[in-house]
Amino acid sequence: MANGYCVKCKAPREILDPKVITMKNGRPATEGRCPVCGTRMFKIGAPEAAAAGVPPERGEAPPTPGETGTRP
Ligand SMILES: [Zn+2]
Repeated sequence: MANGYCVKCKAPREILDPKVITMKNGRPATEGRCPVCGTRMFKIGAPEAAAAGVPPERGEAPPTPGETGTRP
């Protein structure tokens, strides 16, 4: 469950269909819709459930162990 503020209702609402996205600065955010008016809602920070189990993403792949070349 994620709560945000709907600018159209001018009231705090539960975010409908929340999706965790990553902002340009790499921080998590939650995006969804207002259950009352359908306006897009946006909240900085991941919801509790997602924040607890999301491992940090790494840009580089781990080196593959094994032979690097072929020998005759
Ligand atoms: Zn609303």
